[in-house]
Amino acid sequence: MQYAPDYPFKKLDFGETLEVAPGIHWVRMPLPFALNHINLWLLEDNAGWTVIDTGYNVKKIRDIWDDAIDRIAAGGPINRTIVTHFHPDHLGLAGWFEEKRMAPLWMTYAEWLQAHVAVSETLTHDFDRWIEFYRDNGAPEKMTAGFKEVREAFKDPWYRLPETVKRIQDGEKIEINGRMWNVITGGGHSHEHASLWCPDMNILIAGDQILPRISSNISLWYTEPDGDPLRHYFNSFEKFRHLPDDVLVLPSHDYPFRGLHGRLDDLRAHHQIRLDAALDFCSEPQTATDLIPSLFSRDIGVFEFGFALGETLAHLNYLVTDGYLERRRDDDRIIRYRPAV
Ligand SMILES: [Zn+2]
Repeated sequence: MQYAPDYPFKKLDFGETLEVAPGIHWVRMPLPFALNHINLWLLEDNAGWTVIDTGYNVKKIRDIWDDAIDRIAAGGPINRTIVTHFHPDHLGLAGWFEEKRMAPLWMTYAEWLQAHVAVSETLTHDFDRWIEFYRDNGAPEKMTAGFKEVREAFKDPWYRLPETVKRIQDGEKIEINGRMWNVITGGGHSHEHASLWCPDMNILIAGDQILPRISSNISLWYTEPDGDPLRHYFNSFEKFRHLPDDVLVLPSHDYPFRGLHGRLDDLRAHHQIRLDAALDFCSEPQTATDLIPSLFSRDIGVFEFGFALGETLAHLNYLVTDGYLERRRDDDRIIRYRPAV
């Protein structure tokens, strides 16, 4: 059955806003990537406002925020920012809101720590180690050589990271404008991604955990060679299964939609096709790089390579955990996947 989401609102232009439910404003912001936009949310909150996800750190986006806050919120005040996860299109301007508008950051602790690791370019964000990891998984020279340039092109995606955080946790209820919102955390796309569900309003602010058209990037990182992020991602679906099917889902990319359960089924099926293709492809020893064209129909350039390789490895490791494949480093130091014996 073909999944057909219901999109109840018209498409917005960059910088345009729309009140999608009483006191909940959709702010559509540009992004300097192929994925050229992000949806951010400005919520009426008692005598002030709560910002959910903040946008990437470029001046144009800061200007759009100033304009939207003037127009919708008569200049503020902004009580807080709540950020779904550490990726800079979501967290980029939290420090700006803190500095300019005295808005504290609310976030899960793993995401906040991950952001600080990323900024320090250590551990998960040691880029020499990433290149080594790509090479070990069969990346050709042209992909590894261009990696640092790509990185340089996207410098300083965070305005400044807040040094303090108000920690939010799975199952916690957050009061916004007299209504309770449940925090639902999930892994796969990032370690402790937070979505927010308001049963009273039947609204789910889904972040990147559930998107209506594209699938979120689910990547293995070199710091966890045995990691199984795809399984964490699937496990998170169970936390959304008890929500009503007609919940209005506010995702970070594309458009608000209804049809949550169909979309969860669709995402599971999408990944299953890739798992089947990966298993089929690895009947002989193969590198993850060799497998990429079987999983991605589009051309993969230097910018997309890291995402594509990470996602391919996530599928391979899922099959390793389930006992179908074996991962082994051969004498040439290259890691290959083959049928488990
Ligand atoms: Zn993300």
